[in-house]
Amino acid sequence: MANPSVIQGKMLINGQLVDSVSGDTFESTNPATEELIGIVPKATVDDVAIATDAAKAAQREWAKTDMGHRIKVLTRFAAALEARTDEIADLEVRDTGNTIKPMRQDVITAADRIRLYAGLGYELKGETIPATSSGLHITVREPYGVVGRIIPFNHPIGFAASRLAPALVAGNSILIKPPEQSPLSACILAELCQEYFPPGLVNILTGEGATGDAIVRHPDIKRIAFIGSVPTGMRIQHSAAEVGVKSVSLELGGKNPLIACPDADPDVVATAAVRGMNFAWQGQSCGSTSRILLHESLHDAVVERMVAKLKALKIGNPLDPNIDMGPMNSKRQYERVMSLIAAAKAEGAQCLVGGGRPQGAGFEKGYWVEPTLFSGVNTSMGIAQTEVFGPVVSIFKWSNIGEAIEMANAIEYGLTASIFTHDFETAMHLSRAVNVGYVWINGTNTHFRNVPYGGFKNSGIGREEGLDELLSYTELKAINWTPGVSSAAGSAWRQSND
Ligand code: NAP
Repeated sequence: MANPSVIQGKMLINGQLVDSVSGDTFESTNPATEELIGIVPKATVDDVAIATDAAKAAQREWAKTDMGHRIKVLTRFAAALEARTDEIADLEVRDTGNTIKPMRQDVITAADRIRLYAGLGYELKGETIPATSSGLHITVREPYGVVGRIIPFNHPIGFAASRLAPALVAGNSILIKPPEQSPLSACILAELCQEYFPPGLVNILTGEGATGDAIVRHPDIKRIAFIGSVPTGMRIQHSAAEVGVKSVSLELGGKNPLIACPDADPDVVATAAVRGMNFAWQGQSCGSTSRILLHESLHDAVVERMVAKLKALKIGNPLDPNIDMGPMNSKRQYERVMSLIAAAKAEGAQCLVGGGRPQGAGFEKGYWVEPTLFSGVNTSMGIAQTEVFGPVVSIFKWSNIGEAIEMANAIEYGLTASIFTHDFETAMHLSRAVNVGYVWINGTNTHFRNVPYGGFKNSGIGREEGLDELLSYTELKAINWTPGVSSAAGSAWRQSND
């Protein structure tokens, strides 16, 4: 008999909460305890085909709706999502290992983003172009049709719930593929979407990499929006190109520099460096400030403060609101982080804090890694080049600004940078010189509303979180009208054949 405390998840396809066609399932465990907490369907290419057909039919009707209607539907959905914040956050913590406060915030932020996109709906404007004096030359924005959305494990509900909004506002339908390691919040999302959207408009397919691949390769899905790692992003570009010409946006990894100039306050820099690491979800964040580039005059003072702050972080049950850090998301992630820490030590980086698994009661099971600080890191080391996606920070020392810029850019990633200085000209000089898509001056971590987020270099293509994301779900069509060739008969014919 099924264990009643284990969630039996369902997918959402064509408005129905269903199992996969094959009947195959996979398990999800709590990374803090390694206990089984859920069993969900494993969608295959057959489920993707059924969902895509349903999404095509739903999209044809949805595209005929007025913007006011879409705004109303999405606004109601945002309220319903927010009303279930505690229940969703609790499950998300048990499924991801992330701590409770940011997981509550993820649901609230997702609802806020949905409302933001609903509010931006009327910005889906075209232009009037004076190409001829007698004709009319306009552009309009058309939806792609069916959008495929693939989600990583660090913020499953935050990404899945908020990112469906711009696709729908623009008149598309959507297939969402949640992460395999943490799929359970998507099952609550499926229930909500069933209640608030027409059948087929939003389809949620739990599964593995092959499920995502089936979405990418479906010939009728012309727009793929991906958040995840660089290797998977590269694979997706390749797979999509094998099938046809598709619009693929990629929000990928980061190895982000925090540059502290001589005039910065060491207390402020140390606090920001720790905050920027997102220890509340174990450093598993694309935007984490994992490379701290300190001017030599500040180096010792900042390092001393960071050591104290990292040692003071409380690791433990992520459902406890007084805890600062939980376990890594999965065994795979735990083993990866541990092997990168071992490699850094072998390369000669000096481990000042952590570097292992916490000991004692409560840590016998689960995927725990201590907050870890390395100093004496140089750009040729593996730890300086590879995204750890874990609670590991590296300290670098520089003596002139050219060296700082070179260090910041000596990497294949280009997602974010943080700059600490009181001098406006230095801040602007550094902001322009770093090859990244998002810069904080005297700050870290905050994603400001409606400000576009995304990466240069291998960190991605395209921008999310602002108007650019909304527009990216549309294709621009130019319409050129020549006067004097329409007739009443033509108009009548069109109306009777529409
Ligand atoms: P991942 O391994 O690349 O997986 C991301 C998603 O892609 C998962 O749903 C995964 O399914 C799916 N997938 C795997 N192989 C696929 C394929 N061949 N075709 C289509 N989909 C496929 O990334 P992750 O480990 O979940 O997430 C961590 C990465 O995400 C980090 O690099 C992080 O920096 C990045 N990230 C970037 C941003 C940003 O905004 N730039 C935000 C958050 C995270 P399975 O789960 O079943 O493997």
